[in-house]
Amino acid sequence: MFLINCPYCGERDQAEFTCGGEAHIARPKNPPELSDEQWAEYLFLRKNEKGIHYERWNHEYGCRQWFNLARNTATDEILAAYKMGETPPKLKANIPATPSGEPSIGSGNLSTSKKDRFLK
Ligand SMILES: [Zn+2]
Repeated sequence: MFLINCPYCGERDQAEFTCGGEAHIARPKNPPELSDEQWAEYLFLRKNEKGIHYERWNHEYGCRQWFNLARNTATDEILAAYKMGETPPKLKANIPATPSGEPSIGSGNLSTSKKDRFLK
């Protein structure tokens, strides 16, 4: 368990919140012009990086407001919480080195880092 600083209510237990996935993903301006691969990338592909990750969270059992959170996925440290529509803060993550030298993505699965896997 950890505490999340809701921008509307202040610090509350994590159990009151639900995560809505990666933040700041803009919907394409004209979806009919996209290829199936581009549309699939918009819908399903997420960064899953090791380090700073910007996420949408909902204070479901509190004020029920949506907000953004910057979290270090390597340490689970919450670096910033800010309201929807605000500019994400520029942050620097403390990424601990691992003895196995794992890649710069969270899962260690190299296939998730290949953004061009749909392009032929
Ligand atoms: Zn709240």
